[in-house]
Amino acid sequence: MHVEAVLFDLFDTLLLLEGSEVYYQPSLMKLHEFLIKSGVNASFEDFSRVYFEVRDRFYSESRESLEEPHFRVRLLQTLHSLGYDFDVSDPIVIGATTTFGNEFMRYVTIDKDTISVLQKLRGEYKLGLVSNAFMPETVWALLEKFGLKQFFDVILISGEINRRKPSPEIFEKALKALGVKASEAVFVGDMLDLDIVGPKNVGMKTILIERRRTEGIDEIKPDKVIKTLNDLLGVLANC
Ligand SMILES: [Mg+2]
Repeated sequence: MHVEAVLFDLFDTLLLLEGSEVYYQPSLMKLHEFLIKSGVNASFEDFSRVYFEVRDRFYSESRESLEEPHFRVRLLQTLHSLGYDFDVSDPIVIGATTTFGNEFMRYVTIDKDTISVLQKLRGEYKLGLVSNAFMPETVWALLEKFGLKQFFDVILISGEINRRKPSPEIFEKALKALGVKASEAVFVGDMLDLDIVGPKNVGMKTILIERRRTEGIDEIKPDKVIKTLNDLLGVLANC
């Protein structure tokens, strides 16, 4: 089969996140500092306790619905529980969200192979990016920072379309934008449920980049497994 298009996951595939959610506490602290400066009166302990309750509720809802409400919505609900009613477009809500995103960005680096691999693939294949992210504007800022935008024919971020991987819609939308059939496309990502099961269900080929020991790999069976992005170049020729 001839591969026409290669679609990528972003985090822990092309860009690397430091540790396991190491960014969360410092980002939330910066956000809280911003709120305090803006007149919100809640201790960090109270704020973070309510925030994580709201976040966990959002997580369990979105696992079912595969929707991706923007970060601002959960922030709004957190503030509401603390007795503050803001509008979603209030400058305080937007500013606090940006503050969280800016801190998060400090924990993101680029894989050493990303640019050279994308340069080699560009021209030979159509390229797409499909990322689950509740702060799309931060993803755009990261793509800008690392010079990645230029490589892609389509970029879909779950928070912009309110559908997240592994929902079939997000993959189908990307394939349509690229003008290729699912059987002509390969998805590359690090998460079995999001990046392998989802694309497989719409008929795409799949390549797992194994960033860590992955449980369940024997049952789910990606078409190929690679250890580094550089390995992708050789593997794609045999897809
Ligand atoms: Mg990922």
